[in-house]
Amino acid sequence: MRVQGSVVLVTGSSRGIGRAVAVEAARRGAKGVVVNYVSRRDAAEETARLVKEAGAVPLVVRADVSVYEEARKLVEAAIEKWGRLDVVVNNAGILEPKLFEDMKPRDWQRMIEVHFYGALNVAHAAIPYMKRNGGGVIVNIASVLGLRPEPEASHYSAAKAALIAWTIAVAKELADYNIRVFAVAPGGVDTDMTRAWGDMDWVEEQIPLRRLAKPEEVAKIVLDAVENPYVSGDVLTISGGLL
Ligand code: NAP
Repeated sequence: MRVQGSVVLVTGSSRGIGRAVAVEAARRGAKGVVVNYVSRRDAAEETARLVKEAGAVPLVVRADVSVYEEARKLVEAAIEKWGRLDVVVNNAGILEPKLFEDMKPRDWQRMIEVHFYGALNVAHAAIPYMKRNGGGVIVNIASVLGLRPEPEASHYSAAKAALIAWTIAVAKELADYNIRVFAVAPGGVDTDMTRAWGDMDWVEEQIPLRRLAKPEEVAKIVLDAVENPYVSGDVLTISGGLL
């Protein structure tokens, strides 16, 4: 799948990794980029400006991906504008570090709803259109924590582990339809989410490369893999040695 001329939807692209993926897709010649946000319209508009500057047509859509109807409308916004949807990047996410004993049921429910159900909701809405167009690519942004879970992130780690398992199974179901599904699992990336974790000493202590990844470095691996026809059912880590 060439990004050139394609329509790309990136959930949670108002900031961080999602913004970098949206802009990199535009740089590689995407025709249209759907920029999704849930609360920060100002940030989404800034992503849209960067996408336009990089040469693609942006479409800003507010949707909480954890709600199926909103995810469906997000996908349909792309179809209404361009008549097709080639690439979906399920990136929207939250991180609320907490010990399990300090959590309330709503904490783990929300984590599963956003990371796991959110990706399934958008993918389920997009797959019929991808089939109609003869193929597509679905990328799920997982995490090293889905492979190597850590304390204070048990709910997050479990949601990402579920996303990885789902990716591998659904890639097998969709291969015959020329739809590839794979996951990218970053370690620590320099975004608002990581800063919310607080103390940054762990970066120096735990990451062999002694720094966080730049969102642009993650975006490149996402789009290189979109363009590589043999990546499917795979989990690509980019962790600076953290894993
Ligand atoms: P971020 O800077 O905090 O941005 C999160 C994005 O997700 C924002 O655009 C936010 O929209 C959006 N979002 C949150 N809940 C949403 C919902 N229910 N519906 C739609 N959009 C929603 O985060 P990030 O660090 O770039 O993380 C992006 C993805 O990478 C996440 O899935 C995260 O788990 C994963 N990841 C991050 C790291 C890291 O170190 N940062 C490492 C591994 C994996 P608003 O701006 O409107 O709030």
